[in-house]
Amino acid sequence: MARDPRYDVLFEPVRIGPKTAKNRFYQVPHTNAMGWRNPHGERVYAAVKAEGGWATVCGEQCSIHPSADTGPFCDTRLWDEGDARQLGALVDAIHAYDALAGIELAHSGFAFGNRMTRETNLAPSALPVLFEWDPVAARAMDLEDIAAVRRWQADAARRAVSIGYDIVYVYAAHAMGLPQHFLSPLTNQRSDEYGGSMENRARLIGEMIETTLEACADRAAVAIRFAVDEMQGSAGITWEREGVFVVEAFAELPDLWDVNVSGWEHDSGSSRFYVEGHQEPYIRFVKQRTTKPVVGVGRYTSPDAMLAAIEGGVVDLIGAARPSIADPFLPKKIEEGRLDDIRECIGCNICVASENTAALLRCTQNPAIGEEWRRGWHPETIEKRGSERQVLIVGAGPAGLECARALGQRGYDLHLVEAESEPGGRVARESRLPGLAAWDRVAAWRRGQIKQLKSIEVITGTRLGAQDVLDYGADTVVIATGAAWRRDGVSHNHRQPIPGVADTPVFTPDDIMAGRHPDGPVVVFDDDHYYMGGVIAELLARDGLAVALACPLPTISHWTAHTLEQERVIARLVELGVELLPNTTLAAIHTEGVELTDLLTGKRIERAGARAVLVASRLPDDALYRELAGDTEWLARAGIATLGRVGDALAPGTIQSAVYAGHRFARELDAPPVGTVPFRVERLALDAGK
Ligand code: ADP
Ligand code: SF4
Repeated sequence: MARDPRYDVLFEPVRIGPKTAKNRFYQVPHTNAMGWRNPHGERVYAAVKAEGGWATVCGEQCSIHPSADTGPFCDTRLWDEGDARQLGALVDAIHAYDALAGIELAHSGFAFGNRMTRETNLAPSALPVLFEWDPVAARAMDLEDIAAVRRWQADAARRAVSIGYDIVYVYAAHAMGLPQHFLSPLTNQRSDEYGGSMENRARLIGEMIETTLEACADRAAVAIRFAVDEMQGSAGITWEREGVFVVEAFAELPDLWDVNVSGWEHDSGSSRFYVEGHQEPYIRFVKQRTTKPVVGVGRYTSPDAMLAAIEGGVVDLIGAARPSIADPFLPKKIEEGRLDDIRECIGCNICVASENTAALLRCTQNPAIGEEWRRGWHPETIEKRGSERQVLIVGAGPAGLECARALGQRGYDLHLVEAESEPGGRVARESRLPGLAAWDRVAAWRRGQIKQLKSIEVITGTRLGAQDVLDYGADTVVIATGAAWRRDGVSHNHRQPIPGVADTPVFTPDDIMAGRHPDGPVVVFDDDHYYMGGVIAELLARDGLAVALACPLPTISHWTAHTLEQERVIARLVELGVELLPNTTLAAIHTEGVELTDLLTGKRIERAGARAVLVASRLPDDALYRELAGDTEWLARAGIATLGRVGDALAPGTIQSAVYAGHRFARELDAPPVGTVPFRVERLALDAGK
């Protein structure tokens, strides 16, 4: 198929200083939780993006000096020649697909507490470090320190050029770059030529660009990543004030403006709170003040939205981090006119949480992400089938759908049978909750792909029992029947059922999603700590009920901090009048009401007349599996050689983990057996610190 000529503009080359990007698809620097710890993983990850058609592929932020270490995160670094050797292979891998390689050189100032290097933090002023309230202060930089930072940037830029990087950055974004710390009135309290007036606060930005230009000597383009607004009102950087000033002052100095808003929670806002293209109002001014190319992000997954951003004069290059994670082949698919094949990012921020929880990169939509080198998984291709098996998959939630899709792609004949009238499982249910509509893309994309595969038959509205499965005639059966929310409250905090729960009607998220709502005041007890508690409280409050949200932890919706949503979750609940009760556990439930305990004081809190909604944990719906697995002779007589169980039916987790489990089963069916460790392990070479 050929691309729609309407999208030709997306494939125009763009000149960036001495280099030319072959199209407008620009994978901006973004954390990938690999860095110095997983150089092979990062190399192949980047290569897949280049193969997928991104004309420019950038790594995550790269530290220029030990005084700026991003521990506990493992971002790349370019402190010396040893680091340069490690990164050289990455550049070559990107170039192999005719893409430009970009490096976001960064001195993170006092963003992180130098936990790994134990160097003293540097900052414009003597202030405590920003990350996680580490009890450590930075020292105020003197003029020699400023000169040293410029020298380190120059050294790192020269190393980057020597190993072939095409675009070298100055980093002033996400509250993680020293030049932003100097610009922001929130972090600069100096009274010398680097403090006070806007001109003084912006001085280091200009100097860092000049230093980098000089070091690159026209062998690489120089970009600045610049946060035009800190979203802190007039106390911080605002686009109208510092944003306009900086872009006007240095308009033609860099070869590329890569602009966004700060901090990371605003730049990578989740779909629950931010729409596609949400940064446009903030960055729109930039192109009007420079002739240099401008790149911006906004979770663009639709080619029409991309086109509008370019034709509307907002950006020249479509920047993407998350859309490129969910679909590394997004540009290729537009180019080949395969729009229905685009695996659109759902904006859930599980990828972000991977970084924040020190996991390898994960993605709800793309189960191959982070596994390109380690397991040899490619996001688009998969081994052809290894046998003539007839497969039956029971349950069409994210696990069953992905398992079916991937097995179908391998060429297996299979039936996917679902009890409900629509495939989708938990995704179909949850995407009807407030703010989660985009999550339906998980099911929608798989439904669309399955439709294109002739070897898959989808049967809905049919609940299979054990005898039905035995009679089905399949030799391979995969149970993907999901999980149900517990009614007894057992979860992180309550290891035993909550007193009174057996004798009192309670509600679970499954009830609420099925439309069974309480009709009076409610206490939502959240011992799950991710999104569900907050979302259910929001839904019931919007329905006009008096809602209290209690949880045993000191903060509400604790795990949503990892997805950068927690502040917004809490703000929304407060706006809706939900009473928030952190440090509170559910002591007992009676027909007359609910009894809570304040965990700090031990005080009992009575909520007469309230009904409990228990957002506890989930139990696998594995009765079918257990019945089948319990009688191997039965299975043998029915000709079932393989019985598997995937997703929530095995161990309830995130939607991401269900998709991954379904995918993994499909990859491993008929594959040669793996060793004890099912993937390749990255090991540090013992080069004695050379
Ligand atoms: P996962 O996240 O693991 O994919 P879900 O709960 O989202 O799990 O999906 C499981 C799906 O399995 C649900 O749509 C449910 O209706 C379906 N299901 C459960 N038991 C059966 C059964 N016996 N026969 C057919 N479908 C079933
Ligand atoms: Fe998008 Fe979620 Fe994948 Fe991140 S994890 S790229 S937000 S779908």
